[in-house]
This record gives sequence, structure tokens and C-alpha cells, in this order.
Amino acid sequence: MNVLVLNSGSSSQKSCLYEVGDSLPENPPGSVWEGKIEWADDKAQYSIKNSGGASRQDLISVGSREEAIERLLGSLWSGKTQAISGPSAIDVVGHRVVHGGPQHFEPSIVTAEVKSAIESVSVFAPLHNRAELEGMEIVAKKLGAVPQIAVFDTGFHRTMPLSAATYPGPYHWLEQGIRRYGFHGINHQYCSQRAAQLLGKDPNSLKLVTCHLGNGCSLAAIFGGRSVDTTMGFTPLEGLMMGTRSGSVDPGILTYLIRQRQFSSQQLDEVLNQKSGLLGVSGISNDMRQILTASRKGHERAKLALDIYVHRLRSGIGAMIAVLGGVDALVFTAGVGENSPEVRAAVCENFAFLDLRLDPGKNAQSPLDEDISAPDATVRILVIHAQEDWMIARECWNLVQTATTPRGH
Ligand code: AMP
Repeated sequence: MNVLVLNSGSSSQKSCLYEVGDSLPENPPGSVWEGKIEWADDKAQYSIKNSGGASRQDLISVGSREEAIERLLGSLWSGKTQAISGPSAIDVVGHRVVHGGPQHFEPSIVTAEVKSAIESVSVFAPLHNRAELEGMEIVAKKLGAVPQIAVFDTGFHRTMPLSAATYPGPYHWLEQGIRRYGFHGINHQYCSQRAAQLLGKDPNSLKLVTCHLGNGCSLAAIFGGRSVDTTMGFTPLEGLMMGTRSGSVDPGILTYLIRQRQFSSQQLDEVLNQKSGLLGVSGISNDMRQILTASRKGHERAKLALDIYVHRLRSGIGAMIAVLGGVDALVFTAGVGENSPEVRAAVCENFAFLDLRLDPGKNAQSPLDEDISAPDATVRILVIHAQEDWMIARECWNLVQTATTPRGH
């Protein structure tokens, strides 16, 4: 089965193709083709590669998402990065959908009803959900009646108990859909399954804290393979400090800025989402690599940014462990989680009292999909490569199998 995965961001279009056989492989396979287009001003960075080693990179002008998808798909079935014979070789298309709202959690075949449900909650995540809906329309136009499947980033957190999902505001907030949804669910779920596999343990027996530390950052507390708490909430702004996002701040600051500084909703949105976090505090960058380098050179604000990042991460992990009532393994994933021994070491340092200890040699190597804890430590520490696209492809495969397997089999 050829599964095309589309990840439509506000200023990017990513896509990849997986070939899946009659059963799912135990270890995640590489994609046979992947491409992305990232817009910056009036130009776009285009990069494509296939598993045969062919690649292309260019600076191009692409005006619309439709043109971008057309260009990506063209490189999938023609030219030097070709991986399949033509559009008819695609069996199913999976879409990452950031927000499923209060109704949609399970991966779903895209129908008019599912699209209108995604549209109806797009006010919760306007930049993302609209881009994803556009991606679905374009695929229908270019590939005809191929089945499309929506996989929701909020889905994995549907199992959070009401006490974790409900804000302590007025009760009618909950009835209006103002509640904690949580995000990065596709990768938190993948990491929990992969962690059980790497540890050789039954997922139902495990208490895990997964740390998704990329441009966006979130934690999940996972008990028996189910999310019981997470740090992101109604929007992906709550919780940890991130690259350009503030994470949680006292809501009183917002009313102060509105009343005393006449901030508009747009200005608030901009300051909290784009001018805060590592970038806002350091004044130099949202990229952890640059923060670490500047901090080593004695840049005071970069050092403060790093200290806040680590402080909030430690207190968030502590909270997740308290919710779980213990922890068997801590998982680091995504850009910072997979690549920064310094951040992992700083975070773990304060949890030695739980006998959660790193093996410094292994930590320094940043090995992917490996256990980097000290051999005699009680709590395991894993680095797991984020695999959202593969998780989406797996969900598509599962749904197609279920839809085509006769009842009773
Ligand atoms: P992601 O959103 O998962 O692609 O993560 C992107 C972020 O990972 C970048 O903005 C960097 O801050 C961070 N990152 C990537 N490589 C490293 C590294 N070697 N050390 C520290 N941070 C890194």
C-alpha cells in the first residue's frame, strides 16, 4: 500500500510517501520519497529526496499551496526524484490535522461531514486547520477519488480525565469547547509505543513522561499507553517555554497589557506566539543551538533564556510524574530533545533523587531510539526520533485494513 502523508503548515507544505506491505513493520521504515516547500517572503525553499539517493534543492517562486502541492507531486512521479509510476499508484492520503475540536479525536476518513467539523473548529487553530482543509481540497482535485484520512494532533489526549482537561473557569467554558485539548499527540503516542517496544515492556504496565522539545514544546504523562495529562491546552500556547512562544504566563499580564498598554488581540497574539520564548528573552534567536553557543560565551540574556527553559521543563516533568504517581521512563524527542545533551543533562540533574540518572557517555552521543540512562538506574531515559509522518501512515494503513476486512474476520 502506498500511503502519501501531507503535513500542511501555515507557511510550509511537507509531504512523504511510505510503502507498507501486508503487515506493519516492527521498526519504522524510512519514507521512499519526501519533499517540502517552505515559504519566506516571495520565495520558497524547495527540497525533495527519494530513497534511491536522488535529491533536489532550489529557491523557487510558488504563489499558492495548490502550486506547491502540484510541484511536490510532480517530483513524486516524474524527474530524477521519481518514486512511483503515477497518481494512480497512491492508495491513500493521510493528513495531519492540528485541531479536531471536542468531537473528532479518532483518525477519520475525510467526508463532507468531517471537513465541515474541521472547518467549524478552525477558529481554535486558524492558521493550521484552514491550511489542512485546503490540502484536502487540492488532493481531491489532483488525485480524484483516492481515500483521504484525517489524523488529529489532539486525538491522543482524548483520554485525559476531566480534572486535567477542564479549566477552573466558569463551567459553561467546558460546554462551549473551551477546555484543554493538548497537541503533539501523534508524536507523544508514537513515542509511548516505541518506548514500550525499546524497553521490551507491555505498554499497559508503563508510566511514561514524554518530552516533545522542538520549535513547539510539550510534555505528556502517559499511563498504560493513554495520555492522562499534557502541558499544552486549549491552544498550543500553554505550558512550557518554546522557541518563540511564551508558554504559560499569568493571564493577569494580558488584561494589564490590554488595559494599561492598549494592546489589541492581534498584538497580544503576536507577542505571545512570535516574540516570546527563547527569542523573546534572549533577543538573539529561537534556535536552541544559538542560545547554547551564546550562553557558553557569557551572553547574559541567552543564559537567562536557557535557565528559564530548563526550570520550566523540570517543574513540568515533576508535575507529570506527580500526576502519574511515579515514572518508569522519561523520553526525549524532537529537535532539542533528540540533539541536545546539555539540555537533557540539565533537566535530569534534578531528578537524581528518583534514581533517574543519565549515562554521560551515551548522552553525549545523542543516539536515536536508545536508552541513555545509567545501567544501574531505576528510571530509564530514552531518546526517540520523532516520527509523526510514519505514525500517520500507520493510522491510514490500520483504517484501510479495518474498512476492507469483512466483519467477523
Ligand atoms: P523541530 O521542531 O523538532 O524540528 O525542532 C527544531 C529545533 O530543534 C530548532 O529550532 C533547534 O532549536 C533545535 N535543535 C536542532 N538541532 C539541535 C542541536 N544540535 N542542539 C540543540 N538544539 C537543536
